[in-house]
Amino acid sequence: MSATPVYVHDLTREELRLWVVRHGFSPVHAARLWKYVYLDRVEDWAHMPDLPVGFRRAAEAGLRFTTLPVAIETHSTDGFTRKYLLALADEHRIETVLMRYTGRVTACISSQVGCAMGCVFCATGQMGYIRHLTAGEIVAQALHVDDELRAAGAGERLRNIVLMGMGEPLHNYDAVMRAVDILIDPSGLALGGKKITLSTVGVVPGIIRLADEGRPMHLAVSLHGATQAERAALVPVAKKWPLEELMDACRYYIAKQQRKIFYEWTLIAGKNDTPENAHAVGHLLKGQEAQVNLIPLNPTQGYDGTPTDREAAYRFQKILREYGLPSTVRQRRGIDIAAGCGQLAAAQ
Ligand code: SF4
Repeated sequence: MSATPVYVHDLTREELRLWVVRHGFSPVHAARLWKYVYLDRVEDWAHMPDLPVGFRRAAEAGLRFTTLPVAIETHSTDGFTRKYLLALADEHRIETVLMRYTGRVTACISSQVGCAMGCVFCATGQMGYIRHLTAGEIVAQALHVDDELRAAGAGERLRNIVLMGMGEPLHNYDAVMRAVDILIDPSGLALGGKKITLSTVGVVPGIIRLADEGRPMHLAVSLHGATQAERAALVPVAKKWPLEELMDACRYYIAKQQRKIFYEWTLIAGKNDTPENAHAVGHLLKGQEAQVNLIPLNPTQGYDGTPTDREAAYRFQKILREYGLPSTVRQRRGIDIAAGCGQLAAAQ
């Protein structure tokens, strides 16, 4: 038996099967264990009567479950949003958000502790990078939200995930993709790939790899500026991967995947919300299979910008329409509990 424990939530179904077979047991036990973990949500060896005692003993010695105890849970006053501060095994903490919209529930999942990208208006970026999350820590966040829905007893299940929490998912590519493979496994949580949206600030090699690998998920790219200088002032990573390179990668993704890209635009009053800015976005994206999501800035302590008002947001949207670009103005959710876009920052 291996001395280093293996975490079940880090393993795809096939990897779990291989682990079980390698330790001299039937693959049938692997299938049963997978069902306990992802369908019955049992993580106590004593409560897995379908598995023989000998197997349970071996598994208990070599396998662990990734658990993320809730340190703090906060609810928004409108009842639509819940934010969970979850404790990792090494005492770091991350935030996960459950958001209710009409007819659906979405989990906003973190991919790193902190973030290296340093977007000036983002509380996670203001923390700096601490570490990548494991695939199991990403999966366990989704399981936690689904468990909350199950426990509420209203028949709701988790069906939508946005990888837009703490961290840059493409900076932690392998763990994130492994987690996605586990989340979409039809014998487990069975999330539809089209119900998962990965948001990147513009990590060009990751976008190209995603295009080449053809993973079934939506891609959102945070733009925020339509010229290199304006973008780099808000998103420092633009100095490494300039706007032109980013646009080439996005066009490559769209052509290869035959799928549109969602561009995220944080609207900051007086900074990037003028009619000239909207025309610049229109010129930049005209002709692309794209949708622009306009997100009025959510306040953070480390940035003194202010959000664009609704009227200016709709004016911006009207200009994008002139270029044939569909857009949405994001509903604001969870701002009173700092659970909105760019507001997540777990005290470490
Ligand atoms: S917006 Fe995203 S990529 Fe930028 S610093 Fe925040 S978490 Fe990182």
